[in-house]
Amino acid sequence: MQMITHFLVGIIIQKFLFEIIPFPFDIILILILAFLSHILLDCLARLTYHTPEPQKGDKIWLGWHIVIYVTSFLVFIIFCNPYWLVMIVSILFDIWDWYTLRMIQRHIKKDPNWGKKYFLHPIIDKVRSKFFMWLPDLTYNHKGILVEVVIIISLLCIILFL
Ligand SMILES: [Zn+2]
Repeated sequence: MQMITHFLVGIIIQKFLFEIIPFPFDIILILILAFLSHILLDCLARLTYHTPEPQKGDKIWLGWHIVIYVTSFLVFIIFCNPYWLVMIVSILFDIWDWYTLRMIQRHIKKDPNWGKKYFLHPIIDKVRSKFFMWLPDLTYNHKGILVEVVIIISLLCIILFL
């Protein structure tokens, strides 16, 4: 799923679990669940338009990603206090794989095979292929954008109105 979706799920976890058990165990529980929520959401990403590689010639791909980056940034700023930590933890998988290892792979090592064993998303791919292959596959289908928009709006409604 996209960054904004991970952020919103992290916020919901904190919103509903904060102080349900004594400090600091509530915080520990929230951070563990936010970390693990990434696995479930990325398994469900089959239902959304989420191509593994950039589709640079595709204007819809480009527009969608601009919208996603801008709205993710806005959500982070708006909910920063008190949700900054849970939002960061909710995307730790991506920070590690896409913004750390892949950057090293591309720009420092310049070798697409470098560090493959350290990537975490292959674990998620295994969980998905074991339990979630029955879901419709919209990975390369623009209609998957609508699915993720509906999910994002639903999560926002839970945060704002519940
Ligand atoms: Zn991910």
